[in-house]
Order: sequence, then structure tokens, then C-alpha cells
Amino acid sequence: MKPKIIVANWKCNPESSQEAQKLFGISDKKNVVIAAPYLFLHLGKELTYAQLGAQDAFLDNGAFTGEVSSRQLVKAGVKSVILGHSERRIYFGETDELIVQKAKAALDFGLSVIICIGESQREREEGTMMAGRTIRRDVINSLSGIPPKRSGKITVAYEPIWAIGTGETPNPTDINERAKLIKSTAESLGLFGVNVLYGGSVDENNCSDFLNQPEIDGLLVGGASLVSEKIAKIIKIMNNLNGDIYPVVHKEVPAKTKPAKEVKRGTTKKKTETKKTVTLKPKKALAKKQAKPALKPKKSPFSKVKKSVKKKK
Ligand code: PEP
Repeated sequence: MKPKIIVANWKCNPESSQEAQKLFGISDKKNVVIAAPYLFLHLGKELTYAQLGAQDAFLDNGAFTGEVSSRQLVKAGVKSVILGHSERRIYFGETDELIVQKAKAALDFGLSVIICIGESQREREEGTMMAGRTIRRDVINSLSGIPPKRSGKITVAYEPIWAIGTGETPNPTDINERAKLIKSTAESLGLFGVNVLYGGSVDENNCSDFLNQPEIDGLLVGGASLVSEKIAKIIKIMNNLNGDIYPVVHKEVPAKTKPAKEVKRGTTKKKTETKKTVTLKPKKALAKKQAKPALKPKKSPFSKVKKSVKKKK
């Protein structure tokens, strides 16, 4: 069984580097992606277990004031990016077309993408049948044109807009069915093995109800990811469910497989040294991974953007 994951979406929070540092420390656990604001991404370079994520990514470098591109994010150590969050669609007018373009560019640069979809309150009121139709439409509109070879790097976050930040959550078994529908719709586009997350008012009390659903591969957590006690508990519940002994660090210690030698060494000082190896090993692995050169896109989306900017003039 593949492990469930938690994506922490900090949105436009927190206010200071100190707070961000504290949150990074608390959430730095296996199977976690931390989607921090651009401002704090450099602090995430110190992560040992969690993966660094971003909340949006522009197509490419250039004269696009205020934007940050996938190319830049890769250089900054980012591995995953959230695209098409409902707040970007509603407040910043992002369209499906732009989101697909951003997704293609991000995938070309080697990022994993987390594409958000979800029905509005009005669509919810129109009923379950409509919700199913909306889901199929959203998946088709947000994923069409993405090459099947990229399937392994695509996650769809199903976030009913009415559940985001409201404290209201849908029935987990309904969400399981919707996750199944999202996967089968993605498959109809040739995209096999797409992961599906649930997002919307997840907290430490309801997270296990969603995590226990077989078709739900993890959770996108907004508000609760900013509260230390809440996010620590959510991650702990998830990793216990994944079968990891908590804290997971002990599972990866190679020294632990040779306890006899350590006992012979004996002194407290040596014990401290062993502890050091514990953190060093994964850090080294991470550094090696990050050193891999980013994929260059075959065809830069930059030219397209440039053209459309010129046309507008
Ligand atoms: C979100 O906006 O992605 C989200 C899930 O928010 P919240 O958990 O606060 O509802």
C-alpha cells in the first residue's frame, strides 16, 4: 500500500521567519509536503524529511512582475506545487486554460503538481448528480492535454469550495466515491495512477475519517497546518496509519541494525555521535537528490506567453 500524504498549505501565512521556522520544524516529517509562501522557501532548504512545496508557479522566467516561475522554484529546492487553488481561481481569475499551461510547464521542469478542483456552494445545492458531473468536468478541464507519461507526478486535490475554512466537512465515504470518480476520469484521459487528496476544514479530530478511506491518498490541510499542536497530531495520525513507528526517524537509522557494536562502545559521548549519524544520513540523501539537474522543458511556454502579451498591446 502506498503511504498517505499530508500537504500543508500555509497560504499567505505566517507573518515572520521565526514563526515559519517553527512550523517547518514541527512539520518536518515523512510523507509531508509543506507548501510555504515564496518568502519562506529558503528556510525549507533545511528540511530533512518533508518535501518543500509552493502554492503557485508561473510558466517561465521573464518580464512578469510579481510572478515566480517553476524554473526558479526548482532552483530553490521546491519539489511540488499547488496549482489552481480555488482562492487563485476566485480572487485572481485563474482559468482552467492557464492552470493546464502552468501544470505542463511545472511538469516539464520536473515538479510534481497538485491540481485543485471542487464544487461551489451553488453547485452543491444542485445535488449529488450535479456534483458528479462537476467533478468530471473539472478533471477534464484541468488535466486535458497533460501527457500521460507525467501521470506519476500528478495529484488532484478535491476541495469542495464550501468546505474550505468553514468547519463544515462532507461525508468521508462520499469523498471516497468522488476520489474514485476523479481517478477514473483521469484514466479516461490516459492518466493512470493519479493521486487524490481531500481538502476542506481538515483538523486533528476528523483527519482519520478521511485518511481511512481507501481511495483518498492524503489530505490538503490549510488552517490547521498553521497551528503547531494540530498539524503535529494530524501528521502523527497519518504516519501511524502508514505503519511507521512514530517518530519515523528511528526507522531510517542504519546504526540501529547493529546494536551490538554500539553497546560495546558504551560511553554517553559515543551515543551522542550515533544520534548525529541518524540525522546526517537522510540529509545527505536529500542533498544528493536536490543536486540532480532540473529537466529543461522541450518547448518553452515563455514564447506563447510573450506572444499573447504582444497581441494584447
Ligand atoms: C485549503 O484552502 O486548501 C484548505 C484545505 O483550507 P482549510 O483546511 O483551512 O479548509
